[in-house]
Amino acid sequence: MDEVGALVAVSRSHRGDSIGIAAGPLRRRPRRSRGGRARPPTGQRPLARSKLAPVPASETADPRRFMARAIELSLRNVEAGGGPFAALVVKDGRVVGEGRNRVTATDDPTAHAEIVAIREACRVLATFQLDGCDVYTTCEPCPMCLGAIYWARPERVYFGNTAADAAAVGFDDSEIYEQLRLPHGERKIPMIPLMREEAQRAFTAWRDKEDKVRY
Ligand SMILES: [Zn+2]
Repeated sequence: MDEVGALVAVSRSHRGDSIGIAAGPLRRRPRRSRGGRARPPTGQRPLARSKLAPVPASETADPRRFMARAIELSLRNVEAGGGPFAALVVKDGRVVGEGRNRVTATDDPTAHAEIVAIREACRVLATFQLDGCDVYTTCEPCPMCLGAIYWARPERVYFGNTAADAAAVGFDDSEIYEQLRLPHGERKIPMIPLMREEAQRAFTAWRDKEDKVRY
């Protein structure tokens, strides 16, 4: 079995599309078909855990195997007309989330690879916290994805390209990091305080609610 062949694949449903990822070597698949499996009813876990084949620990000890798969996915995404980014979420030697940059394909500026992978992993694991998971991303996360990663709280992040590498090919997110350091009034996109007292009613309600689900 080749390097990536040992990795697990996940059959996933994204926006009602079915993307089969089988164990074994990466291979091209037909374009996503739209008439496949129907989306499960709300509240039903979309992918049973039993469909995620475990990979023997001996075959997953080297994190380069997962990064190699992520890199392969990023290359495939470029060929398909998308951005040069991909990410995986791995737990206990299994890929539980996979994402390719889908910004232009879905008209969604938040569809960065890491976000897509985190959303899928949380759906598959039926949780909002990625405890015990590792994130593999082909590029150092942008501020948005870094925030999402911190909210999801995985164990660690492996990254391939650096932010400087991304900037060199036209994906410079340094401005966003710089904007974070500026006062609201000095940011490129104005941030304007409005109705703070009224907005705080929800915070008060949250603070006083006893049966809340903390996150
Ligand atoms: Zn990002």
